[in-house]
Amino acid sequence: MADNRKLQVALYWGAACGGCDVAVLDTNEFILDIAQAADIRLWPIAVDKKYKDVEAMEDGELDLTLFNGAVRNSENEEIAKLLRRKSKALVAFGSCACMGGIPGLANLITREQIFERAYFHNPSIQAANETVPQSETAVGSGTLHLPRFYKRVYKLRDIVEVDYFVPGCPPAPDQVRRVITAVVAAAHGGTMPPAGSVLGASDRALCDDCRRAKGEKKITRFYRSHEIVTDPTRCLLEQGLLCMGPVTLSGCGVRCPDSNMGCRGCYGPLPQVRDHGARFLSALASVIDSKDPGEINSILDGIPDPIGTAYRFSMPASLLQRSVRS
Ligand code: SF4
Repeated sequence: MADNRKLQVALYWGAACGGCDVAVLDTNEFILDIAQAADIRLWPIAVDKKYKDVEAMEDGELDLTLFNGAVRNSENEEIAKLLRRKSKALVAFGSCACMGGIPGLANLITREQIFERAYFHNPSIQAANETVPQSETAVGSGTLHLPRFYKRVYKLRDIVEVDYFVPGCPPAPDQVRRVITAVVAAAHGGTMPPAGSVLGASDRALCDDCRRAKGEKKITRFYRSHEIVTDPTRCLLEQGLLCMGPVTLSGCGVRCPDSNMGCRGCYGPLPQVRDHGARFLSALASVIDSKDPGEINSILDGIPDPIGTAYRFSMPASLLQRSVRS
């Protein structure tokens, strides 16, 4: 790429909360460097461009697309495929795109249960509502279309090939800066890591970077954060607070344990680990200080939502991917 040509960049959100977009803005004045180095060709949250503007581009015209959010409906899938075609490098940006994220927890229930809750039995809607969004509605002037709501949530690489992964819920601003700086440097003659790499994270566990004192992990009770005043210098897990630090990639700057909260696992599993949640449950099993099945069960009862906790960000990326109910 010639030095004077600006990078052509798109940012897109699928099934997402908007936090990943805010994380880009959280880079503060660095956003001005991005604006200087790149033309933003699509960014629904901030730039008034249309899908037809992307359709009109040559294939591969975009140097980089940061895709945040999971794939939940037909619009997310259509735009993922469109941006894949138009992009030289497609990055799964944030935990939802990388692993399914919080929206992926919907894979534990059915589409019908979600609609039931959202449109029929919900304190914020009119009682006895019978209106549910339809993907096609005939009106006088033709047919109106809405995206189809899928039965399950997908991570981005279930739908299209992904070049790089930037985990985090959301990715930390420093990590965003490092990733964009690396991409700009690569566009001007530097080299990018091999395709498939996780960018902006380390290959160590969060515990390796955590500043809390570690001793022997022997747990006889789990606590929720409002049930205990923790020692700010000691490992949270050793004090009975759930922390996914032993099984989660570092790279966030240890933000949660530094704020007295256990790691939630948003940076995903360590290299070579296929199922983040299963690895966490196995790590927990190894620190419970009992051999008595009854006592072990009562200790585990202190975890109110084991599946939602262990797979908070990774349900669609797990071995099971979803629960199926008739
Ligand atoms: Fe690891 Fe969490 Fe303990 Fe820190 S607080 S050492 S991240 S388990």
